Order: sequence, then C-alpha cells, then structure tokens
Amino acid sequence: MRDDNCIFCKIANGEIPSKTIYEDEEFRAILDLGPAAKGHALILPKDHYANLFELPDETAASVMKLAKTLGARMKEKLKADGFNLVQNNGECAGQTVFHFHLHLIPRYTDDGQKIGWKPGAPSQDELEEIRRQIAD
Ligand code: AMP
Ligand code: ZN
Repeated sequence: MRDDNCIFCKIANGEIPSKTIYEDEEFRAILDLGPAAKGHALILPKDHYANLFELPDETAASVMKLAKTLGARMKEKLKADGFNLVQNNGECAGQTVFHFHLHLIPRYTDDGQKIGWKPGAPSQDELEEIRRQIAD
C-alpha cells in the first residue's frame, strides 16, 4: 500500500524526517514546509492513496475526526482565531503532491492570507441545469 516514488509515503512512514505534530498507526500529521499561516499542518495517511476518491470511507471518516481533534488543539495552543480545512484533488484544483493529504490551516485575525475563490454569478436557470446534472 506504499508507492516507492512518493515523498509523502516516505515522510508518513518516517523514512524522511519531518516536523511531526501527531502520529498513530494510520496517520502522521506534519508541519507544512510552505505554511499559509503559523501552524499550517498536513494529515497524511501512512498508506498511499492518490486522492480523496481512492481513500477508503473509514479512513476518510478518521481523517475528519483527527482534523477536529488537532484543529482544537492548535486553536488552543497557538491561539488561532479561526481555521481552514483544505483538500486539493487533481492538478487543476491545485494538488501538487499526489498522496492524499488534508491541510489544517489555523487562521489569525489580520494574518493577511486569502484562501478562497472569485465568486461567479450564474442565473437561476444555469443553477437549475447544474443541479439537474448532479442530482438526477
Ligand atoms: P497540495 O498543493 O494540496 O498538493 O499541497 C502540497 C503541500 O505540501 C504544499 O503546501 C507544500 O508546501 C507541502 N509540502 C511539499 N513537500 C513537503 C515536505 N517535504 N514537507 C512538508 N510539506 C511539504
Ligand atoms: Zn504516497
């Protein structure tokens, strides 16, 4: 369940050192080397899954629980004012490392970061057409 060419497999399994903030049998959480804000961390499963769609449902559920636990800890210890969870899938969505990871980004009032998008302005008809494509 590992990919020998994957850097996050090596980090998650301790073959490459990292600033680890949490570890158990299934996951390692590390500080991001290029943080968006102080404490920006990544939860990595120890097994290799390229993205969310390869992740088993039970692992996905465990990741979200761990994000909640670590997020609360970081908010308390780093005195963060808010928190973003970010998870990119696919190159066009900003994914650069193709081993599933969940970004935990503590936020601080006036930290000057922007995590977001440019809002579109679809008509009600356009929204309805898209709704149908997805729901039906
Ligand atoms: P993404 O763009 O969602 O694939 O995120 C990849 C993230 O991994 C980026 O925020 C990088 O700064 C971070 N990153 C890449 N290599 C390392 C590394 N060796 N240790 C810690 N973080 C890393
Ligand atoms: Zn991997």
